[in-house]
Order: sequence, then C-alpha cells, then structure tokens
Amino acid sequence: MSDYRIETQCVQGGYTPGNGEPRQIPIYQSTTFKYATSEDMGKLFDLEASGYFYTRLQNPTNDYVAAKIAQLEGGTAAMLTSSGQAANFYAIFNIAGCGDHVVASSTIYGGTYNLFHVTMRKMGIDFTFVDPDCSREELEAAFRPNTKAVFGETIANPALTVLDIEKFARAAHAHGVPLIMDNTFATPVNCRPIEWGCDIVTHSTTKYMDGHGAAVGGAIVDSGRFDWWAHADKFPGLTTPDDSYHGITYAEKFGLGGAFITKCTAQLMRDFGSIQSPQNAFLLNLGLESLHVRMPRHCENGLAVARYLKGHPKISFVTYPGLEDDRYYALAQKYMPGGTCGVVSFGFRGGRAAAETFMKHLKLAAIETHVADARTCCLHPASATHRQMNDAELAAAGITPDLVRLSCGLENKQDLIDDIAQALEAVD
Ligand SMILES: *Cc1c(COP(=O)(O)O)cnc(C)c1O
Repeated sequence: MSDYRIETQCVQGGYTPGNGEPRQIPIYQSTTFKYATSEDMGKLFDLEASGYFYTRLQNPTNDYVAAKIAQLEGGTAAMLTSSGQAANFYAIFNIAGCGDHVVASSTIYGGTYNLFHVTMRKMGIDFTFVDPDCSREELEAAFRPNTKAVFGETIANPALTVLDIEKFARAAHAHGVPLIMDNTFATPVNCRPIEWGCDIVTHSTTKYMDGHGAAVGGAIVDSGRFDWWAHADKFPGLTTPDDSYHGITYAEKFGLGGAFITKCTAQLMRDFGSIQSPQNAFLLNLGLESLHVRMPRHCENGLAVARYLKGHPKISFVTYPGLEDDRYYALAQKYMPGGTCGVVSFGFRGGRAAAETFMKHLKLAAIETHVADARTCCLHPASATHRQMNDAELAAAGITPDLVRLSCGLENKQDLIDDIAQALEAVD
C-alpha cells in the first residue's frame, strides 16, 4: 500500500482484509486475548513473538489505524495514544529523562507549552524555547551537551507560524539529536515533515484527522531514519539492554525502523497506559478515509474567509499562511504548496469590545475551544482560554485582546462569509 498515492492510502492504507474477512476495520472490543499455552503467551511478554495479549499495550484495531498513519507520513512504524498531549509527552519522554534538555519552538500549542514548561520540568527535563524565526546562530546557542531532541509544530496552533523544517532538522542533526514535529494542523495531506528531514512526527488526531469532533486521540510516527547507534551515548534507552524487558536492546532487536515505537509501547504505554480506545480508533479511521477530500475544502474556505477579512474596513489584521502577504507565505509555499489549514486569526480596529460584539452575533460559527472540525467554530481567547491574563500577559503570549481565531469547516464558503459579514455589521 505504501506504493500508492496519499489519496489511496487515506482510503485503504493500514488494513488489507483476507478472503471472507470484514471489509471495514473490525473493532476489537476486548481487553484481553486468549492463548493455548503459557509458553505461547510467554513469548509475547519476552517480545520474542508478535501478537496481542492486553489492550493497554496493543490492540489490532489501533494497530491497523496506526499503520495507515505511518504510511501517510512516510514512516516505518506508528502508535496511537489517548490524546495529542499523550503523544507529545511520550515522544519526548521516550528519549529524554531527568537531567536532560530539549530545544522547542516558542510558538507551540498552549497545552504542549504547559506540558513542557511546567509538568516535564517537574520531572527534571529542561526546555529552551526559541523563536521559530531565529537565526542559525540563535538556534545553535540553544543546544547543550545534554540536549536530546528538538521540537516544533509545522503550522503552530494558534499562532499560525510555519516552521522552517530544514533549518531545524539541520541544527538537530548537527547536534546528534532527532527533530520531533507536531503535524496536527497541516496533516500529511498538506505536508509530510519526514520528507524534509524530520525524524519523528506527532499528531493530535482529535483535529483534522478525526475531523468530526467525535474522538480525542493522538499518534506518534517514526521515520526510522534517525541513527541511534551513531549517537549511542546520548540514547542509552535505545542502545543498551532494558532490564525491565529481559535485557532487550531495542535498536538491536527491532532495527532503526522499529526501535523507537517498540520502546515507546513496551515501556511508556505499559507504565502510563494512555491507550486510545479501539472505538475511538475506528472513528479516527472513518475520518482518515476522507482526510484527502476534506483538507482541500478546509483550505479553500480558510483562504476565502482570510481574503474577505483582509479587505474589510473594521478588521485590523489577518493571519493566514496561505495569504500572499502573510509573513509565512514563502515557507508555506515551500513546505505545503497544496494548502495550509482552515484556521484563520484576525483582529478588530474596535479592539476587545468589537471582538466580543462580533462573537455574540455569529450564527453559523459556533463558539468552541475546538478547531479543525467539519463545523466552523470560533474562539475569542481573551475572554475564554486566556481570560485569566491581563493585557500585558496576553501580549507576552502573542495574543492581542481583539484576536479571534476562526476554524473554517466544510460548509459553503459564501455562507461562512455572509455569517461573518452580518456579525461585522453589529461591530462599531
Ligand atoms: C490540540 C492539539 C494538541 C493536544 O491534543 P489533544 O488531542 O487535545 O490532547 C497538541 N498539539 C496541537 C498542535 C494541537 O492542536
């Protein structure tokens, strides 16, 4: 299936039924799996044979869907997690522990920023946040001898900055560490970071991949390209025996293509248990089957709305990387020439009050913290997700009091523009 184009992989990747088997991926709604002998099961526990014994570690439904996502991203292995938060936590914690350090872009999703800056710091992992537009020298200066990874988002949520993947990959590799990228907003339909040198890709599948606001989930994909052996001293977890798994050395037993995901499953999923339910994996797969059809429509609607807002006298700024005069247009054209995403952010000449009035008058766009849904949704961060912050704190977070984030769904674009137009009429 990996020889086929991405549209075909979206529809049919990951699962190929045999003669007389279900056409759709079956939901293996079972916590456990039965064996004839203890010896048979023992081999699974020793990772000597592959198979299923307990859904916290692996479940066939999840594995089919993970295999599809691995194909879409051009990776060698993938796993599903219960959420995007779990995916980013596992991706970092799989190779960084107490006393280690990670370089991350500063314009990442707020939840990921908290995870890194607050919770993982408590675990003894230090983070240096760099401006995604920093110079090579500034990026170089962020590295330390104990740096274990570099992290960024292809299109940042909600800042809508586009990361220069090659710049970050070059710096990471020069320091012998992998580049991990959260590709939630672009999706593999619009950008495949592995083709640009990224080593590990993560997703909040809650967003476009599911696409229907139905199931929270996450995924991690390994490119299989990062040479753990070449930097064995930095990554002992992959290159020395794991005492908690009968002395297995992951990079030896599973090769570069399988080591990262196998270790992540065998250790982190075993111990933390953030498994995606097979029901949710099934729903996620329904979303994936139309991802390649939906993404162009999200982008078409996003661009139409961004262009309309850009020309409106009551609007002070519009941020959308698909707009020709956007700061990130050139990077977007390079890394995602087919389109960016459906999320647009903008501000009002009338300031915070105008934003609040606008929100009250929307009819089609619903007020939600969610993004990347089939239904258009809208958020005024200063009065919702960021309402504890004063204007100075908002400015530090890159959010102005008048900023509104609109996630364009799959509706008719003229209906979306008409809704925005009538809400703008109420604004002073
Ligand atoms: C939503 C989101 C996350 C967190 O994912 P959840 O599924 O909500 O846990 C991580 N990264 C990005 C870019 C997101 O948009």
